[in-house]
Amino acid sequence: MNRIRLLSEQVANQIAAGEVIERPASVVKELVENALDAQAARLTIEIQAGGRALIRVTDDGAGMSRDDALLCLERHATSKIQKAEDLASIATLGFRGEALPSIASISRFSLTTRERGSDSPEGTQVIVNGGKIASVQACGSAPGACIEVRQLFFNLPARRKFMRGEETETAHVRHYLTLAALACPGVAFEFIQDGRPVWQLPAVNTTDKIAALSERLRALAGGGEKMLPVDFSMNLPALAEDEENREAPSAPSRFSLWGLMGAPGVSRATREDQHLFVNRRPVENRGLNFALLEGYHTAMMKGRYPVCCLFVEVNPAEVDVNIHPAKREVKFHRERMVRQLTAQAVRETLLRFHAPAGVQPLPPPPVVAPPVPSRPASIRLPDLPKLYPPPPAAPPPAPAPVPVPLSTTAPPPVPAHPSALLQVPLRLVGVVGRLYVVLESDRGLVLLDQHAAHERILFEQMLRRLEDNGLAPSQRLLLPETVELPARDATFLREQLPALARLGVGLSEFGERTFLLDALPPFVKGSQPRRFILELVDELKAAGQGVNALRLGEHVIAKTVCRHAVKANDPLAGAELENLIEDLRHCAMPYTCPHGRPTLIEMNFRELEKKFGRAQ
Ligand SMILES: [Zn+2]
Repeated sequence: MNRIRLLSEQVANQIAAGEVIERPASVVKELVENALDAQAARLTIEIQAGGRALIRVTDDGAGMSRDDALLCLERHATSKIQKAEDLASIATLGFRGEALPSIASISRFSLTTRERGSDSPEGTQVIVNGGKIASVQACGSAPGACIEVRQLFFNLPARRKFMRGEETETAHVRHYLTLAALACPGVAFEFIQDGRPVWQLPAVNTTDKIAALSERLRALAGGGEKMLPVDFSMNLPALAEDEENREAPSAPSRFSLWGLMGAPGVSRATREDQHLFVNRRPVENRGLNFALLEGYHTAMMKGRYPVCCLFVEVNPAEVDVNIHPAKREVKFHRERMVRQLTAQAVRETLLRFHAPAGVQPLPPPPVVAPPVPSRPASIRLPDLPKLYPPPPAAPPPAPAPVPVPLSTTAPPPVPAHPSALLQVPLRLVGVVGRLYVVLESDRGLVLLDQHAAHERILFEQMLRRLEDNGLAPSQRLLLPETVELPARDATFLREQLPALARLGVGLSEFGERTFLLDALPPFVKGSQPRRFILELVDELKAAGQGVNALRLGEHVIAKTVCRHAVKANDPLAGAELENLIEDLRHCAMPYTCPHGRPTLIEMNFRELEKKFGRAQ
């Protein structure tokens, strides 16, 4: 049976956009995607010298008949696309009508394949050198396909020069394979580099997609980080047909976001461990990057990036996947909405992490307002859930101090999804350095940064008042101070005066570029008003225009105010510390200060035993 059909010339031209093969990693990508399309359950990828000398991809997929094997090396053949309309709604891995012929035209290429389920044990081998078929012969072969690409760009010296060193090219290949392995936990991947096995990832056989992903991530990365499961889904409103939006879908569609993301306190200095997929295809999209940061908000330090592996699933018609065939950038037709929903999903996951087990922390996601707007610009977005829900009416019973067992029996096993630290009872042991509070739980040692905890508590108290439309408490300064600013900053600050007033910062204009500071929240030490104001302006400018600019501005102000609120070394005594911990328990996001620094550090018994050499 010939699965591969010839395309009409018109479709072929639509496909022939741009260069697909940039480097060895792009060859690996095309070959792996082909194998996955052929329903492979097991893939072996082998490279030598960063893929410059050899790339070999072996799969146990459907394989090809002799006719198909020849046809797939023709220009414009593809097994997927039959007519132009299909191009708009390709939900899977994109299209590569030209991939194999292009690869074969720039390398020494061989394809060995046998159709799965064919009666004959005989397969086909096609050898192509720089685009010219050198031989076609029968050969013995396992079902599936094995493609070898040697001496990439051997006939294109100019392109060969663009390849980087072995290490760089290997890193690109490994990066792509990481993404492919995360997207397909049900497929076994083996990666061999210069004869040495790098990974052997067994197929994960579970129908729970998040559990499967978690298992695959553990196999790839060792699973040292605390990750939270994400599972979010919401109906999107239909878009009305109108002139400006012909391409938009007319039926209601669903948006879901699922996967794993780092718990509060887990972060990286780069975006390297941020794996994003749209309809199972690895993508890059600035909107999604921003949405992640926005969702983590105060749970992420400035300049740090979330760790995640997240899958967006939407109607394929909502996405432009082929801005550039070789790149991974995608564009959403409703970028703003996708960004808001993503941020919401991240935020809800973080809030749920702290919520006591069994208690629903937030109402179910609101369904997007049904009225159908006439213009895309007027899409009604769902109201964001309150970031800082009020504390529960009846506080949970105070945790009873738990005596620490003195036995030396094995420590309790570390659960795969550990329960949040503040849900377990904590017993106060003491304070070191007048700053770090030492606590113990039945899991081990806990350290609390008194300053960071206090900052978090004040921050949420301020925002809670704002959300209740109240005013933050404010105290008049005995000696008002004037602060002079550069003209540009003065203009900027003038716009923020109402928000500052709501937060208890009494600042008024006192001339062209001069402001009078006459009130501060009572807990702020107003010893350096000028520095305080300059810092506020800088923080506000850095925050820029967020999606929800008003709230963002208020949060920035509150963060800055809180930084000035407490001195690290105010020693607190027993009862005050108990109160501090209790107040922290009532916070929505207690594990980081508003600037994303951790409030608590845990070292469980297992880690302690390792350090003391009691366990391996
Ligand atoms: Zn802080």
